[in-house]
Amino acid sequence: MMSTCKHASELMSQGQDRTLGPVERLQLRLHLLICKRCRRVEQQFGLLRAAIRRCRDDS
Ligand SMILES: [Zn+2]
Repeated sequence: MMSTCKHASELMSQGQDRTLGPVERLQLRLHLLICKRCRRVEQQFGLLRAAIRRCRDDS
């Protein structure tokens, strides 16, 4: 379980920089379905991304 959470957070982190492949996205989705903790992490990544986008739009 631990290694799966680690993998999931790695995928979320990489997803900020590049587009994840279909298998990676599926693995991440499946993990987020069962793991509340990683869902919260993903939400924070989403907020971060939205904030970054807002900054770029302003400049
Ligand atoms: Zn997890």
